[in-house]
Amino acid sequence: MKAAVVNEFNQKLEIKDVPVPTLGYGEILVKIKACGVCHTDLHAAHGDWPVKPKLPLIPGHEGVGIIEEIAEGVTSLKVGDRVGIPWLYSACGECEYCLTGRETLCPDQLNSGYSIDGAYADYCKAPAQYVVKIPDHLDFAEVSPIFCAGVTTYKALKISDAKPGDWVAIYGIGGLGHVALQYAKAMGFNVIAVDIQDDKLQLASELGADLTINGFNVDPVQEIKDKVGGVQAAVSVAVTKKAFEQAYGSVKRGGTLVVVGLPNDELPIPIFDTVLNGVTVKGSIVGTRKDLQEAIDFAARGLVRTNIETQPLDSINDVFNRMEKGQINGRVVLTMS
Ligand code: NAD
Ligand code: ZN
Ligand code: ZN
Repeated sequence: MKAAVVNEFNQKLEIKDVPVPTLGYGEILVKIKACGVCHTDLHAAHGDWPVKPKLPLIPGHEGVGIIEEIAEGVTSLKVGDRVGIPWLYSACGECEYCLTGRETLCPDQLNSGYSIDGAYADYCKAPAQYVVKIPDHLDFAEVSPIFCAGVTTYKALKISDAKPGDWVAIYGIGGLGHVALQYAKAMGFNVIAVDIQDDKLQLASELGADLTINGFNVDPVQEIKDKVGGVQAAVSVAVTKKAFEQAYGSVKRGGTLVVVGLPNDELPIPIFDTVLNGVTVKGSIVGTRKDLQEAIDFAARGLVRTNIETQPLDSINDVFNRMEKGQINGRVVLTMS
């Protein structure tokens, strides 16, 4: 099968022929139809983070498609089912986190397209218990980004503790941010979209943002204080430290900053302000299978739509290039022939 492979960090991915994965007990083989390109895949290809991915690596954790084969032990799914393979490839099912519905914190988890091969390929295998079904009427390419961008931002908003009617700010209107703001609207929040590029903010307005701020031209912290007196929750899905500092600064007394973007950097937080203002800072990592089912349901009901551009698998190096330069509006989704 054809796959895009990272052989070494900071080198171009190689498009090459590799063997179709063979199944073990409880696993399924998915004929991949589409896979979104997440900024995490770029971090993986660059070896940006303290914990490195395996090499060689087939990236991709928004892979969706049709089950072509099932192994012994699979009872919940059948050949022909439409499913997606998320970042949480598998977890142990037995630790304190797995037992308390916090499987994304499992210390023994595997991650698609990072610690195990992902879906930048014609086929990808996965444990049946950790894939999630896709309703028939949803288009593969359009639903693909829900498997990471969607579930991640939906979960971040859920744990932000914001209530309907509250103001929330989304910093970074990229692949994650453009769906984040739609989940936020669907959950009843008033939404401020912050980015440093006008085309991203134009999209944010079209998708329902109540207020947009270009953080390159004006100070978003001041602007947010002036306009709404600070936000109850800020979610930073940008890839630069500055956005996180500004997101922290735009939270009002008693509010929450949810940290989602993953630049390999530090976030210095003023102790005095955090204490006196009673500000909460939370990290949020993707979402559970249940969160993912809920996130898909929003899309199935037409409350959230992804702004996608489809590209063939072979174009991945060009897509990564554009992502680095901030030249993608929404999500690029690779489609397999
Ligand atoms: P993306 O490249 O599509 O979007 C990033 C956006 O941030 C762009 O629109 C860019 O213009 C904007 N931006 C850059 N600097 C900014 C600034 N100073 N202020 C405001 N906006 C700014 O990336 P993506 O795919 O949306 O991923 C974003 C980050 O989230 C990555 O670091 C990725 O690894 C991480 N991520 C985290 C999780 C998680 O579970 N925590 C899940 C998926 C992705
Ligand atoms: Zn992702
Ligand atoms: Zn576990």
